[in-house]
Amino acid sequence: MSDAETLFERIIAGEIPSEKVYEDETTYAFRDIAPQARVHVLVVPKKRYRNLAELAAGDPRLLADVASTARKVAEIEGIAESGYRVVFNTDGDAGQTVFHVHAHVLGGEQLGHFGR
Ligand code: C5P
Repeated sequence: MSDAETLFERIIAGEIPSEKVYEDETTYAFRDIAPQARVHVLVVPKKRYRNLAELAAGDPRLLADVASTARKVAEIEGIAESGYRVVFNTDGDAGQTVFHVHAHVLGGEQLGHFGR
């Protein structure tokens, strides 16, 4: 298992420091170390799945928990009304770097159109 595969588990366990925004029984949310918007929070299920496809197939209830936590993060960060983006980078062309599924919650400013 590579470092990249265990990184978020170590953050959740508190072995690597993070700026926590929200936590409950099944999910953990913390500020991205390299923010791409004024608000950039990662929502991670505590149980590791490689990517969105594996999470959706393996534990749809946990995927619903991740979606619910993303909404809570938007409320906590004060961006629920202004609008925000939720992104799951999935494998190669999307540039996924940490293979423990996570949702990026982005907002707090007008976001550019996404794509190339
Ligand atoms: O979707 P992707 O796998 O590329 O996202 C990984 C994210 O994890 C990046 O946005 C990166 O900045 C973030 N990260 C972090 N803290 C670390 C290592 C990576 O917030 N210690």
